[in-house]
Amino acid sequence: MNATIIDSLRDSSAGSLSLVGGIALLAGLFTWLILEIFRTLLRTFSEHRQQGLAHEKLRAQLAETKLRCREAEHAQTGWNGIRKFAVVKKVMECDDVNAFYLKPHDGRPLPQFKPGQYLTFQLDLPGRDKPLIRCYSLSDSPHQKEYYRVTIKKEKAPSDKPEMPPGAGSSYFTDVVKEGDILNVKAPTGHFFLDMAKTNPIVLLAGGVGITPMLSMANAIAASGSKREAYFFFGVRNRSEHIHKAELEKLAAENDNIHLHIAYSKPSEQDVKGKDFQHEGRVGIELLKEILPSNNFEYYLCGSGAFMKSLTDGLEVWGVPDKDVHFEAFGPATVKKKTVAPSPSETVHLAKINVTFARSNKTVHWEPATENLLEFAQAQGVKIDSGCCAGSCGSCVVAIKSGEVNYLKKPDTTPDAGTCLTCVCRPKSDLVLDA
Ligand SMILES: Cc1cc2nc3c(=O)[nH]c(=O)nc-3n(C[C@H](O)[C@H](O)[C@H](O)COP(=O)(O)OP(=O)(O)OC[C@H]3O[C@@H](n4cnc5c(N)ncnc54)[C@H](O)[C@@H]3O)c2cc1C
Repeated sequence: MNATIIDSLRDSSAGSLSLVGGIALLAGLFTWLILEIFRTLLRTFSEHRQQGLAHEKLRAQLAETKLRCREAEHAQTGWNGIRKFAVVKKVMECDDVNAFYLKPHDGRPLPQFKPGQYLTFQLDLPGRDKPLIRCYSLSDSPHQKEYYRVTIKKEKAPSDKPEMPPGAGSSYFTDVVKEGDILNVKAPTGHFFLDMAKTNPIVLLAGGVGITPMLSMANAIAASGSKREAYFFFGVRNRSEHIHKAELEKLAAENDNIHLHIAYSKPSEQDVKGKDFQHEGRVGIELLKEILPSNNFEYYLCGSGAFMKSLTDGLEVWGVPDKDVHFEAFGPATVKKKTVAPSPSETVHLAKINVTFARSNKTVHWEPATENLLEFAQAQGVKIDSGCCAGSCGSCVVAIKSGEVNYLKKPDTTPDAGTCLTCVCRPKSDLVLDA
């Protein structure tokens, strides 16, 4: 009996032991399971967090890349409409000529321009109901990333009309604009520029303030390290008009490939030949023949009407093909190159054309000898705003109500559909203008 009890006690304690063991095992397993689940949760959470961070980083990188792309695009293509620029420096270059150094007010990068291109300014002049639009060539190298520079000459009253006021825009720049002022500026543009991808030798011909695009071209050659041969002729009266004198001399001294020839037409007593200038007289075709080894160059011209006419005529007679002669007109006086005269049959057609100025309630026969629609409108007493008179500034834009026009040259600013730049076009058919 005792033995049976003892056996059953032994059995029951062995059972309890195995139960405890089982429970302990289960508890161990459960704990391991909980720990595993916790660890997995922790890992998943941490992976999620890392993925989130990676996403965030990627998003930031994407935004940065987009910004860079936009900046690069801006740097390539300029900007639309008006951008504010601060005048950071104004330097008097010589009598009535000032250089203006401009930085974007928004602090963003400056778009590249091509040497020879210009800026268009919208000037809010006191007493005018509309802004005055004026173009000024960029006078420094496009490699200069810190600022844009324009060099502006105050336009005096014409010598045959001394009672007239001096030029409105250039007087405003000369007499009113000061360092710290903010100006409204349109992006660089223009078809007159030096192709920096080419290496052929060039001749730069500048008269007076017409030096500005040429200086940009010469500076661009020097700054790019190019060894492109450039003969640079600059004609002024004397030292008092010698714009950017020190800069020109430095440019020639530091670059063997830039051959500078300064011509003074009326040297003063202080002017020293061989130092301040090399030639007495004007920059003309005879001087070119004397200095240049041949006529086999591409020519870039900018200056007064007389300067451009004498040189373009001279180059033609010397046998330089038209395709190698490029010029910039600073205004109506300088723009009169050979415009192709209409043929007799065209003249008959043109003489039949009616131009209606709808707002002025006038219909007039087109006069075939007239240069352009702006000139024609002004002759009829119809007021149309004008600026550069060279298809650049866009001041003379007028809406076409019906009819078509022909352009005498490709305008720098493409007019909106249904409008025309009257300073560089003629009617092609009967025309109704909103003027
Ligand atoms: C592409 C381009 C680039 C240029 N780059 C430069 C540059 O780098 N530097 C520069 O200095 N210029 C440059 N110019 C010229 C510039 O744009 C202006 O044409 C010039 O400054 C004269 O403008 P203004 O407003 O001062 O003169 P406006 O007011 O247009 O007057 C012009 C002339 O007319 C006279 N005048 C005024 N009223 C009358 C009247 N009632 N009757 C008759 N005459 C009158 C004035 O006395 C003056 O002589 C450039 C032009 C173009 C198109």
